[in-house]
Amino acid sequence: MIEFRSVTKTYPDGTDAVADFSLVVPAHTTTVLVGSSGSGKTTLLRMINRMVEPTSGTIEIDGEPIGDRDPVRLRRSIGYVLQNGGLLPHHRVVDNVATVLRLEGTPKNEARQQALEVLDVVGLDRGLADRYPSQLSGGQQQRVGVARALAADPNILLMDEPFGAVDPIVRSELQTETLRLQQQLHKTIVFVTHDIDEAFLLGDQVVILSTGAQVAQIGSPSEIIENPADDFVASFIGAERGARALHTKETGHGTVLVDGTGRTQGRLVEGGQGAA
Ligand code: ADP
Ligand code: MG
Repeated sequence: MIEFRSVTKTYPDGTDAVADFSLVVPAHTTTVLVGSSGSGKTTLLRMINRMVEPTSGTIEIDGEPIGDRDPVRLRRSIGYVLQNGGLLPHHRVVDNVATVLRLEGTPKNEARQQALEVLDVVGLDRGLADRYPSQLSGGQQQRVGVARALAADPNILLMDEPFGAVDPIVRSELQTETLRLQQQLHKTIVFVTHDIDEAFLLGDQVVILSTGAQVAQIGSPSEIIENPADDFVASFIGAERGARALHTKETGHGTVLVDGTGRTQGRLVEGGQGAA
């Protein structure tokens, strides 16, 4: 479990990126932080692995303040996936995936073997292992980024708009893949996006943010869709936009998300409600 307690971040130039933010991220579930550009999402994520230090307040992981932890070791124990993949261009796929294992001192051959196994986990052909990132499609690069983040088997996975730079079809594939992975791995995922549909698809818990990381609403997708807290949330989730308006529908196989035309947009994970 990750807990933010009254966390504030003011950058040296005076920008109040995060103002008095509190949140419980339950273990083994996916929490999505969703908000417009500049709302403070990346700052929140980077404070979890101490790439950004809060100005005030504390963040705890399993009850322990992260300020007490060694930043480098903390960072290696948390998987981090970036929008552009963040791959090392002059390292082969297998060595990119093995990066953290090597930093932790795993011998080269063993690290490569583990890296190949992680490629299997994220659905990448082992035949791609010896390629360089530039020899992969955007979607494949993102999968390598996910594989690298998972290689050292962290409990926590941070994902910062990881599918923002790929086309809609690949994006949809990667979203489905993320759901499948999470059903298998049960990581504590904090996922950042500006795309509300992506948030509802992937999140057990969705946190809608406005400027300064102010929490406009927090809840399961169905709670938010069925009961938007205010006009800001209603407008953000597109509740007034007719055809795109999302609502939930019970089926024999669980709850699904359908748009105004009756098209299924996603599946809701059971038990998201009250998970905090
Ligand atoms: P988001 O990820 O939601 O787009 P960010 O966390 O990147 O938001 O940024 C939140 C606010 O903090 C924005 O106003 C942004 O311009 C500002 N900001 C982000 N990083 C820095 C920085 N290193 N120095 C100064 N201001 C920053
Ligand atoms: Mg950002």
